[in-house]
Amino acid sequence: MPEGQIVRAVGGFFDVRTPEGDIRCRARGIFKKKNLSPLVGDYVIFERTGPEEGVVTEVRPRRTELVRPPIANVEQAVVLFSLREPPFQPVLLDRILVHCERVGLRVCICLTKLDLVPDRSEVEQIAKIYTPAGYRVAATSIRTGEGVEQVKEWLKDTLSVFAGPSGVGKSSLLNEILPGLRLRTGQVSAKLGRGRHTTRHVEIIDLPDGGRVADSPGFSRLDFTGLEETELGDYFPEIREHAVHCAFRGCLHRDEPNCAVREAVDKREIDPGRYRNYLQFLQEIIENRRFKKW
Ligand code: GDP
Ligand code: ZN
Repeated sequence: MPEGQIVRAVGGFFDVRTPEGDIRCRARGIFKKKNLSPLVGDYVIFERTGPEEGVVTEVRPRRTELVRPPIANVEQAVVLFSLREPPFQPVLLDRILVHCERVGLRVCICLTKLDLVPDRSEVEQIAKIYTPAGYRVAATSIRTGEGVEQVKEWLKDTLSVFAGPSGVGKSSLLNEILPGLRLRTGQVSAKLGRGRHTTRHVEIIDLPDGGRVADSPGFSRLDFTGLEETELGDYFPEIREHAVHCAFRGCLHRDEPNCAVREAVDKREIDPGRYRNYLQFLQEIIENRRFKKW
């Protein structure tokens, strides 16, 4: 039976991309009963009911699954933060990184609005923190075009989603990469009080140089629901790496004796700022749990 990937969901229909073109499919009733709806990004098996119509009969297991935007099999997040306007927000960046690690996405960090920064050492400082942690880092400007080629390079051969707070330049950069896309840029509507993308449908877009990208940005609201405090260190790659040498299993790297993570922080092998954010998130998880029990 034919197979393909859902690239668009519109009003109960799923457009399945195949080498012969897109097939507009309905989902079998069985999915509704199981409360398992196909997602954009799903690899599916379908039955043809007409030349360009079909019914999805099976969804292949998902490698990853995002809730916002609702999309399956994303492999990479390009996380955007502006250097200015709004200023760089390391705590929020680390929060998004934890989320990406948890979902299992590879991460590229894109520092935007480089044209507003007079001193490049600022970018180097940030890269010095995140490159050793295993993240790719680049700085971009849509005013000068700098860094845009690097982002295009990252996007090749994989399915990516853009993430980051509003106003950092996600739509602007996507428009730069895909001139035909024409996402609206500008400030989020104050009246609606939420991102303008919330009412849009999700769509996967093929890039001219290979690779695909979701047309709506991800992760607007982030908390640590369902995350155990012993798990948190796993989502900071540099903490995870040192934690295997801690004396205690389940070490939270706070005040336990012979903690390899704290030693690494003292030796500056782990960035103290990242460690501080780890402790802040840990506290948040512990307090939330206490609150719930109460
Ligand atoms: P989004 O909310 O993340 O999609 O951000 P937008 O793409 O809507 O951009 C927000 C504002 O930042 C707009 O006024 C853009 O013109 C501006 N902007 C985006 N990229 C750059 C950049 O590289 N340099 C400068 N100076 N401004 C930018
Ligand atoms: Zn430890």
